[in-house]
Amino acid sequence: MATEDIDTLIIGGGQAGLAMSAHLREQGKPHLVIERHRIAERWRSERWDSLVANGPAWHDRFPALDFDDIAPDAFAPRDRIVQYFETFAAQIDAPIRCGVEVTELVQDGGGFVARTGDGAIRARNVVVATGPFQKPLMPVMVPEDQGVTQLHSNAYRNPAQLPPGAVLVVGAGSSGAQIADELQRSGRKVYLSVGPHDRPPRAYRGHDFVWWLGVLGLWDATAREPGKEHVTISVSGSRGGHTVDFRDLAAGGITLLGRAHGFDGGKMRFQDDLARNIAEGDANYLSVLDTADAYAEAMALDLPPEPQARHFGPTPDCVTNPILELDLKAAGISTILWATGFALDFGWIKADAFDDKGRPRHDRGVATVPGLYFIGLPWLSRRASPFIWGAWHDAARLAQHIAARG
Ligand SMILES: Cc1cc2nc3c(=O)[nH]c(=O)nc-3n(C[C@H](O)[C@H](O)[C@H](O)COP(=O)(O)OP(=O)(O)OC[C@H]3O[C@@H](n4cnc5c(N)ncnc54)[C@H](O)[C@@H]3O)c2cc1C
Repeated sequence: MATEDIDTLIIGGGQAGLAMSAHLREQGKPHLVIERHRIAERWRSERWDSLVANGPAWHDRFPALDFDDIAPDAFAPRDRIVQYFETFAAQIDAPIRCGVEVTELVQDGGGFVARTGDGAIRARNVVVATGPFQKPLMPVMVPEDQGVTQLHSNAYRNPAQLPPGAVLVVGAGSSGAQIADELQRSGRKVYLSVGPHDRPPRAYRGHDFVWWLGVLGLWDATAREPGKEHVTISVSGSRGGHTVDFRDLAAGGITLLGRAHGFDGGKMRFQDDLARNIAEGDANYLSVLDTADAYAEAMALDLPPEPQARHFGPTPDCVTNPILELDLKAAGISTILWATGFALDFGWIKADAFDDKGRPRHDRGVATVPGLYFIGLPWLSRRASPFIWGAWHDAARLAQHIAARG
């Protein structure tokens, strides 16, 4: 098969790949986007049916295209997000080739060769845009022979997909909290294992949390606060957007549990850390209110005070008297849904560009190997990097870098 030549190859046709294409076009750089499935594939086939954006439509978008049919403060549904990226690809006439997977990327002279089922592509520059959430992480805790269905949140679609019975959701970040809520509302008995988390207010004093992150400069943070590296964040745009409060989930009938840490003789074990995790989540919530209040005062902003935001409901019994061991059969649990996050997987890139844990070595997306770039990764340049508008701004900077290579 002949080898094709292109100046810059973008691997991945999600939001980050499309943002990159838009900015390379602006720089007049010839390029090609290769996508193994379809545009925005992960929003189509690795997200649940009822998912809506975690941020409002005025925010979770590219500056170059509005959601013209959605109120700015509303949260775009998953299918509308897919359509948004398709529209955007057409708007910029993105040179995208779908249904082609890059199976290997190797260094070749001063550039790279990408191997695909369709032949090889030689490129001087390569931008890896294969996503912040590539490989589902599912702890090997419960043996397969326990007669319990186990799936990762990226394979969850809707309550009807699961066998009848109660569900244990492990992980209470945005995915776990939203899925547990949906399952409970569909009539399921739900157990939710809650680890350390941040749970910022959806909105405060008339402004959404993402607005506060902007004015407080927190989207620009370049690294997680020390000690918070493994703390997940729980936010939700569902049901019009609301603050995640685990007390509300418990009041609705969900049984909260501490962090899952083992399985033996049909019983799942949980750490005695639920009350602490809830208290630390509350402290995080209150610290956002405090920071926002201090900013509003310092800037003399005329925002309506919201003292009721500081009142919490009663502590549920499952927090006061935590269950430390749960017999899955006796509890009628037929499904364990692991909302336990994702890992990176760059095993297909054969270049000296990774540390001993397989993490790319880069400076804000510019890899240590000249001509190689990464985009869309968590904390690539700052907190905003894996999100829709954050990837847009990283793409602008990386396109300038590529153009400067001549
Ligand atoms: C449940 C969930 C909800 C989220 N909600 C929001 C939100 O509301 N707002 C927000 O801003 N962010 C959200 N995010 C974070 C982030 O925006 C998404 O993860 C988004 O999909 C990342 O876009 P991306 O283009 O960087 O990567 P991806 O969407 O993962 O796109 C990568 C693309 O690369 C393709 N690909 C991978 N490997 C290859 C290969 N070897 N060859 C060819 N193609 C390949 C994949 O098929 C895929 O289409 C959410 C994430 C999750 C998990």
